[in-house]
Amino acid sequence: RRALGSLGKSRAKFISAEETTGVTFNDFAGQEYIKRELQEIVRILKNDEEFQNKGIYCPKGVLLHGPPGTGKTLLAKAIAGEAGVPFFAANGTDFVEMFVGVAASRVKDLFASARSFAPSIIFIDEIDAIGSKRGGPDIGGGGAEREQGLLQILTEMDGFKVSTSQVLVIGATNRLDILDPALLRKGRFDKIIRVGLPSKDGRFAILKVHARNKFFRSEAEKEVLLQEIAEFTEDFTGAELQNILNEAGILTARKDLDYIGQDELLEALKRQKGTFETGQEDSTDIPEDLKLRLAYREASVAVLACYFPDPYRPFTETDIKSIRSQPNMCYAEISGRVFLKKLDYLNAIVRACAPRVIEEEMFGVDNMCWISAKATLEASRLAEFLILQTGMTAFGKAYYRNQSDLVPNLAAKLEALREEYMRFAVEKCASVLREYHSAVETITDILLEKGEIKAEEIWDIFQRSPQIPQPVVNP
Ligand code: ADP
Repeated sequence: RRALGSLGKSRAKFISAEETTGVTFNDFAGQEYIKRELQEIVRILKNDEEFQNKGIYCPKGVLLHGPPGTGKTLLAKAIAGEAGVPFFAANGTDFVEMFVGVAASRVKDLFASARSFAPSIIFIDEIDAIGSKRGGPDIGGGGAEREQGLLQILTEMDGFKVSTSQVLVIGATNRLDILDPALLRKGRFDKIIRVGLPSKDGRFAILKVHARNKFFRSEAEKEVLLQEIAEFTEDFTGAELQNILNEAGILTARKDLDYIGQDELLEALKRQKGTFETGQEDSTDIPEDLKLRLAYREASVAVLACYFPDPYRPFTETDIKSIRSQPNMCYAEISGRVFLKKLDYLNAIVRACAPRVIEEEMFGVDNMCWISAKATLEASRLAEFLILQTGMTAFGKAYYRNQSDLVPNLAAKLEALREEYMRFAVEKCASVLREYHSAVETITDILLEKGEIKAEEIWDIFQRSPQIPQPVVNP
């Protein structure tokens, strides 16, 4: 086996390579069933030949998905550590650059490095940055470049011979819904494992892992204190729980105490919750007129989300504490298998128009800002997807990867149809927002006053809102 040391320096900077990660499954707590599934993979990786003789092969790819901080990277490292194989890591965003060809060549580099040390593990964090649906919404640019990177990953994974030494590719994402389906096909990332937020028992187990190197007055007191923290930390990730213990350790040292006690833990919890809840120190820096626009944007998105609920992503809350190009509205993790119908696609286009429509209504056409431009971009891309890639519209029954695939007369047809869809979506959206104008105003007021609003309150306002009848808009 060649020394790994040379790799880190001489070859690509974007790859981080470790001979052994030193991480084991003992470092990951909670969600025991995940470990059980991965243990099987470790056994195959370790015992390459024995299993191959029996005709049992390691999956080529494992996809870990779930919210940030839930231990996906930790699990990937634990697989490498347990199997005793080198670990090559990169981030999906590293592949996407302005320069053509960079993505594909970086992917090649990564796989070549890992192959020369096989059996080994490749870990690609935020794989959605490179592996999102082709031809889908492309906020942030780099579409063609990204597509080449994605194709290269597919080529590399298809190219592995099962009979040669194994390279296991582990991907991590918190956006399973936007991944290109090609990545999830058999022989690619065909093992998909969800890493969710820990349960109460899971949180207790995680706290115990991170309390291993901390001092408590006694084992018994430690158990009681950690149980208490586990109780108070619903919705916390493993990373946040780890922070609480670290913070408590720092507070203890600052007070010159020998042991972590209840006061320090509760103080640390409060701090963690504080950063967790406000998160945006810059909220006061948002100018008043922009706050008003953000509030209207979120209110319009909320009303449309009530009128045309997304069957798979219920909204949870929104705020005006940060300035983002897309609405701040938060959604629950996708649940179950997605089964979108044409009407769901249409509704998504109408929903996407909301920030644009409300700006024009409230501020006038000459006073619209980037908020409208971003909404228009999003809605147009959704419309284009429906027209080109689903075969469900008057455009025709074929699939087109993107606009550049089209001969001129089809391109003209696309323009006309997209225009038609956008016109319909804007009109429909405007009709809904006028009908529920009083709900829009109420939600806007609450946002301006409190900075945030939860789904429950939004639904309540929506349902009580007196409706103002509007002329019917049909597609
Ligand atoms: P992700 O890759 O999902 O964003 P990470 O693996 O980077 O999350 O998690 C960050 C840190 O949080 C880990 O290094 C670990 O210390 C801690 N952590 C997260 N989840 C767990 C867990 N289930 N058990 C123990 N520690 C955890």
